[in-house]
Amino acid sequence: MLVKREFNHELRIIPKSELRGEIGSDIYFGGMVDETSAGLNPARYLAGLALAAQRAGACLCDHTRVTSVGRERNNKFRMETSKGAITAREIILASGAYTTDATPALRKKIIPIGSYIMATEVLPSDLARELSPRNRMIYDSKHFLYYYRLTPDNRMLFGGRAAFFPETENTVRQSAEILRRGMIGVYPQLGDTKIEFVWGGTLDFTLDVMPHAGKIGDMYFAAGFAGHGVAAATWFGAKLAGLVCGDPNDIPFDGIPFRGAPLGLRSGHTWALPLAGAWYRILDWLT
Ligand SMILES: Cc1cc2nc3c(=O)[nH]c(=O)nc-3n(C[C@H](O)[C@H](O)[C@H](O)COP(=O)(O)OP(=O)(O)OC[C@H]3O[C@@H](n4cnc5c(N)ncnc54)[C@H](O)[C@@H]3O)c2cc1C
Repeated sequence: MLVKREFNHELRIIPKSELRGEIGSDIYFGGMVDETSAGLNPARYLAGLALAAQRAGACLCDHTRVTSVGRERNNKFRMETSKGAITAREIILASGAYTTDATPALRKKIIPIGSYIMATEVLPSDLARELSPRNRMIYDSKHFLYYYRLTPDNRMLFGGRAAFFPETENTVRQSAEILRRGMIGVYPQLGDTKIEFVWGGTLDFTLDVMPHAGKIGDMYFAAGFAGHGVAAATWFGAKLAGLVCGDPNDIPFDGIPFRGAPLGLRSGHTWALPLAGAWYRILDWLT
């Protein structure tokens, strides 16, 4: 297998007959087991990163929106924010799907797509063990994928690209129902289980569904982490910090053409998203 040869990373293909022993369900044609991957609590991870940055001397300004970026006479960047202006020698754009018109060159490259997740009530431990006998982090390979796992307190945490549009009260409500149906499709045993939490966020898709990094309008940026997630975003963050500090540029993604998002799918103008959603549903149905 390519990943074994190139990265010495072991993956194991399993037939449908062994699926239930891995994920407590056999609705899929088969699976691939990655023994060396793991899960994390993203809120705790974020808090840990913030603390580490603060300890290293960073000044963190939460609830502060950058509203415009310009240049001063001395060529430094000047950012207007909701709490006043600041100047900077370098800027790293890490605003993901939430990129605004403060940085229009990046905004028009991003396709913002909602992703939603819900948590059931706490499950009896024998049911939890039946659903996920090996306590795996599980995801499928559809465009409208599901990703799920047990939480440490034995809730089923079940997420997916449900409502497609960025999160609002409405899309969160719709997604709860879509995800509940999806979850029962995988685990009919959860038909009467209560859903206690639902929430969502927006992912930064790019046209080629790959991360991109480098410079845009003289500012460093990294974007396109939809489907690549927390591990990739953190890796790119460290790389960009290195570049600002004068490290050589060894980011393999820099220089890959970064095409703009088609009109109608761009952040802020997403009227064509339902068409794209319908197209991917057809692909999922066909494959
Ligand atoms: C429901 C859901 C489930 C997910 N599950 C997984 C998973 O299982 N595994 C995984 O790896 N990934 C998962 N992800 C994806 C993961 O959360 C993202 O890939 C990751 O958060 C991207 O990190 P980021 O720092 O690039 O962007 P973000 O976390 O989106 O952060 C961007 C930040 O920029 C800020 N910002 C934007 N514009 C401005 C401005 N003008 N001024 C000031 N601040 C601004 C935003 O407020 C935001 O805080 C999931 C996402 C969702 C929504």
